[in-house]
Amino acid sequence: MIIQKTREEIEIMRESALVVSRTLGMLASEVKPGVSTLHLDKLAEEYIRSQDAIPGFLGLYDFPNTLCMSPNQQVVHGIPNDTPLVEGDIISIDCGAIKNGFYGDHAYTFEVGEVAPEVKKLLDVTKASLYKGIEQLKVGNRVGDVGYAIQKYTEDHGYGVVRELVGHGLGKVMHEAPEMPNYGKRGRGKKFVEGMVVAIEPMINLGTKNIKQHSDGWTITTRDNKPSAHFEHDVAIVDGKPELLSTFAYIYQALGIESDEETPFRQQALVL
Ligand code: MG
Ligand code: MG
Repeated sequence: MIIQKTREEIEIMRESALVVSRTLGMLASEVKPGVSTLHLDKLAEEYIRSQDAIPGFLGLYDFPNTLCMSPNQQVVHGIPNDTPLVEGDIISIDCGAIKNGFYGDHAYTFEVGEVAPEVKKLLDVTKASLYKGIEQLKVGNRVGDVGYAIQKYTEDHGYGVVRELVGHGLGKVMHEAPEMPNYGKRGRGKKFVEGMVVAIEPMINLGTKNIKQHSDGWTITTRDNKPSAHFEHDVAIVDGKPELLSTFAYIYQALGIESDEETPFRQQALVL
């Protein structure tokens, strides 16, 4: 069942999403060669707690850390460790936080120093596909419209769209209805309704769409060990249209990137 949120609840959820956005923004300056994912995890936990929030992933389904840290061929659900990042890596950081009883959940794939052009393009296309999906999140459309938009855009670039892992509704629990696959058919699936909040999160592989699950019970990698990218936003339907609750603006501020990609999906101005 889709749980529709009131305007007041959506504003509370915006706060939860922005705790995660600020955490990712803080991490953006720290991601560099020589830094371990476990170190970044500790920074994130401290930061989230300083915001009167609770790490959303820590202990959820027994996950051991604050961040899912998935370098290179890891798709999602990587466990932070002592291994230092090296120049040319990519690192997908997925972060959750609970504030005032509601979850924020979003993710960004960072470049560690200079990355190969084909990998950089994978990141750009995956992020662009996220907005292609968000565009379709409006009353009158269905789950399949979002999935189709993401799949079409990324497959046109020759990439593999992960099937086994999907986006989801978001609220007082981390995974609510509906499931939001990054593939699908137009006009199919559950109808979107006013007040729904979802996490849209394309997981896109440079090569095959196929993945494998590792024996730690968490880590998912591409079957061909080629790189994978993951970008995730929290989005509400307000007045029938998509309204971004999370933002990459803190990341862009830290990295000196200019972008207006979020502007079409923001009904109220973002104050950093
Ligand atoms: Mg996430
Ligand atoms: Mg999610």
